[in-house]
Amino acid sequence: MTAADTLVLANFIDGVLAPPRAARYLDVFEPATGAVFARCPDSDAADIDAAAQAAQRAFPAWSALSADERAGHLQRIANLLHERLEEFALAESRDTGKPLTLARSLDIPRAVSNLRFFAAAITQFASETHATSDSLNYTLRAPLGVVGCISPWNLPLYLFTWKIAPALAAGNTVVAKPSEITPLTAFMLAQVCIDAGLPPGVLNIVHGSGAATGQALIEHPAIKAVSFTGSTRTGVAIASTLAPKFKKVSLEMGGKNATVVFADWDASEANLATIVRAAFANQGQICLCGSRILVERSIYDRFKSAFVEKVRALRVGDPNEAASDLGAVVSQAHFDKVMGHIALAREEGGHVLCGGEQVRVDGRCADDWFITPTVIEGLGAAYRTNQEEIFGPVATLIAFDNDEEAIALANATRYGLAASVWTSNLSRAHRVGAQLESGIVWINCWLRRDLRTPFGGVKDSGVGREGGVEALRFFTEAKNICVAL
Ligand code: NAD
Repeated sequence: MTAADTLVLANFIDGVLAPPRAARYLDVFEPATGAVFARCPDSDAADIDAAAQAAQRAFPAWSALSADERAGHLQRIANLLHERLEEFALAESRDTGKPLTLARSLDIPRAVSNLRFFAAAITQFASETHATSDSLNYTLRAPLGVVGCISPWNLPLYLFTWKIAPALAAGNTVVAKPSEITPLTAFMLAQVCIDAGLPPGVLNIVHGSGAATGQALIEHPAIKAVSFTGSTRTGVAIASTLAPKFKKVSLEMGGKNATVVFADWDASEANLATIVRAAFANQGQICLCGSRILVERSIYDRFKSAFVEKVRALRVGDPNEAASDLGAVVSQAHFDKVMGHIALAREEGGHVLCGGEQVRVDGRCADDWFITPTVIEGLGAAYRTNQEEIFGPVATLIAFDNDEEAIALANATRYGLAASVWTSNLSRAHRVGAQLESGIVWINCWLRRDLRTPFGGVKDSGVGREGGVEALRFFTEAKNICVAL
């Protein structure tokens, strides 16, 4: 690709696509080829300030619209996105390295669903009343004002819309910062918003690095609340900036999720395929991926050979090819990080059962960031390999002897985002599910998402919940009115 072919992305401020004021840009890489294909604004505090001011100007009119009118705007955006699904899926796959089939079946359809879901949800959003013999209390829920939404690179448009949709539906105006590593579909969404007739300033999208753009966003005095999804390390930095300012904050962060397989599980092909998918979907770069697989000892060897056989059969290849189950990981830095973790696992004494290598993919993808899906055994729960989030195509196997040990192993990390439990004993499923230190537990399934349910983690995985009414509550302020009767 020549410099002339390079896409130049723009910010979306006050309804207009605009270059960054300081004219600084960041390179955006296509993970499948390792080549730069776009340049994204590296915005600074002046761009954030322009966006925040536009959002402040837009707030009175936007928040005064009826819920139906705001829902109508979100529906129009969703409809246009749906019409352009293929174009967006191609862009998402190109920007992230994920298989096109995944972007087409998961990422973009879910972005459409997020917008449609919150368009409908806001029309059903209700608040409480509390009556006594001499008074009636009722709760008003008002939008906060201008809010900040910050999203990561692994599910770019999916997670971006998961934040902006409830924020807008609830009547806030938004300054949003997508990941600088995968900015393309958020940039394209700006054009969709223009085409859908979203009033200027209601949604502003400012691109750039976390340290400059992100930090300026969270510090801006007009920003009343921040909804963040990303690493725990960044979450700590955001929380410490925001705590003394008393801004509302929602943090969705890292995970080291357990998949707990009991001897009495239904060992069907379909269930095994789900456990493989739970570990390796999107190259293992989903915060919900089950990367620690705990297996009851009596079935450990049988499970291991069936699991490893299925993992070996996964095809790593060009994301554009329908036959590819896994594409490239997102960046050179992330490739190095994942390979570093595999080397560490070997140093710790782990036994690599399959994978563990860079994959050479022929053709346009030669030499880039592809890793064979990797399964490691022989390391106890306390090893770094079983403690630190790798966020790549790497899973470990650990044996356990009884329910108590399974629960203790599953809980033995600083994280607590998601878990899955596989058993045909219903009371065990409920008992274990209740004792796992995890915001989300799937029983005999994985990644089944009902958008009404609370989504988020405990311990170092998160503060607060997204989804359904939880998101609408986060993006509104409650006020109690007490009327004497
Ligand atoms: P990251 O923390 O590096 O970046 C996330 C976002 O925060 C980016 O937009 C980045 O530019 C921005 N940012 C960085 N520093 C900032 C600062 N000081 N102020 C404001 N913004 C800042 O995370 P990542 O590498 O993009 O994403 C991977 C991580 O996200 C993994 O840890 C994964 O588990 C986590 N994740 C969690 C969930 C969840 O729902 N819990 C979902 C997806 C990903």
